[in-house]
Amino acid sequence: MKKSIVSTLALGSLLLFNNCKKDKNSIDANVKNCIDIPIIGFSLSDDVALGAQTAAQIDAETAEFPILDSASNPTPYRILYKIRNNILNSGKVKHKADFPWRLRIINKPDVQNAFCTPGGFIYVYTGIIKVLDNESQLAGVMGHEMGHADLRHSVSSIMNENGVGILLQIASGGNPGALTQMANQLRGLKNSRCHEIQADDASVFYLASTDYPCNSAAAFFRKIVASGAQTPPEILSTHPDPGNRVESIDKKAAENGCSTTKVPTNDEYALLKSSLRL
Ligand SMILES: [Zn+2]
Repeated sequence: MKKSIVSTLALGSLLLFNNCKKDKNSIDANVKNCIDIPIIGFSLSDDVALGAQTAAQIDAETAEFPILDSASNPTPYRILYKIRNNILNSGKVKHKADFPWRLRIINKPDVQNAFCTPGGFIYVYTGIIKVLDNESQLAGVMGHEMGHADLRHSVSSIMNENGVGILLQIASGGNPGALTQMANQLRGLKNSRCHEIQADDASVFYLASTDYPCNSAAAFFRKIVASGAQTPPEILSTHPDPGNRVESIDKKAAENGCSTTKVPTNDEYALLKSSLRL
């Protein structure tokens, strides 16, 4: 009995300590609180190694993931990297310098999706570019996906599902098969509802310090609902009601006090679409 009281107190102080040490300007203090086991023994460069392995597998599957070559498609890549840089230069991305934040465009005009692996390997389908109207909406989506990596959601989910052992094996390099196994598992991993809300909150947090309206991820949800998309994109997958997501993003923006009406000065979305022939 005594022992359990001591443990409870210890856990309580740990949680208290975690709350106290949060800088109010940090991403951790500006997203919904999720109950996650702290990530221990898996470094940020391990996130990048895991992401690079997953990305290598994706890039090799050319039928499933027809990736546009950046050398022969300079314009769309330039514009996507510009949007990415606007987000990174918000000064709000915690792991801006730790991850490569590499971008790839997957040429599937019927797939309205985007995702980001651990360690910041970003993938955007042409289908999502096609359905959106402006840079801001795409920035809202990219902010959400980058938020998943920045908040280390996949690593957290792997720990919850498999325990810390497999991650420690990857980190130590003692089991070369473990990296491939985890990269495979990542492909089928769904983000929890709480992580989805955190990623939405991250998008608001980042965009608040850019020229894009900070609630642009909500505009994306409105658009997706209106389009009557049959296959829910990843961003919608674990939340049945996109209307709630719109409400929650707008509420976060109001709390933040950030602008929801600004228009970026150099919106190149029409050029992005025409350069992709969308
Ligand atoms: Zn998501």
